[in-house]
Amino acid sequence: MKLIFLGPPGAGKGTLADLAVDVLKVPHISTGDLFRAAVKAGSPLGLKVKDIMATGGLVPDELTIEIVRERLSQPDAKNGWILDGFPRTIPQADSLEKLAPADRAVNFEVADEIVIGRLSTRRVCRGCGKIYNVKTMAPKKDGVCDACGGEVYTRDDDKAEAIKFRLETYRKQTEPLIAWFGAKGKLVTIDGVGDPKVVLERFRKALGV
Ligand SMILES: [Zn+2]
Repeated sequence: MKLIFLGPPGAGKGTLADLAVDVLKVPHISTGDLFRAAVKAGSPLGLKVKDIMATGGLVPDELTIEIVRERLSQPDAKNGWILDGFPRTIPQADSLEKLAPADRAVNFEVADEIVIGRLSTRRVCRGCGKIYNVKTMAPKKDGVCDACGGEVYTRDDDKAEAIKFRLETYRKQTEPLIAWFGAKGKLVTIDGVGDPKVVLERFRKALGV
């Protein structure tokens, strides 16, 4: 099954995708992770992406489409995938329809106030990428990863100014996709508020999986 996960930053798409992977047995492909890996590797693409991400901006369509095309061509993506963070614009969605059309676009609805609360308390491990939340899931020792002992920090794009900018960017550029997929009859809308396991059950029911 080929799925696109839509919803504002902080809607829990990444967490839900990780849970859904166990149900559907397809890879979770996050463009955010692909970009961060490129930045870490210091590749030419990574250098271009680095400055854009630090300010919460969107990576240009051509670069994004290229990196997604490359990832979808790998053997583990043959029988399906969950795309998280892509497409973010109508031109990207158009490119994907031509490359590998998704079966469904799943929109996780979460209000702005909830998103801001979630993102401003999010922390991530610099070593292994494990995600924490200082309110709901703090590391045992402040600033230190339980899993690998790495530094737990606030990502640049989770800082207050960047969060506001990401939400504005989302409303302006990505929200039109909801109508776009709706017109194609591919849209599934799910209430994204609550415990991830509860949201997963709503997802399974809505998709019959
Ligand atoms: Zn770690």
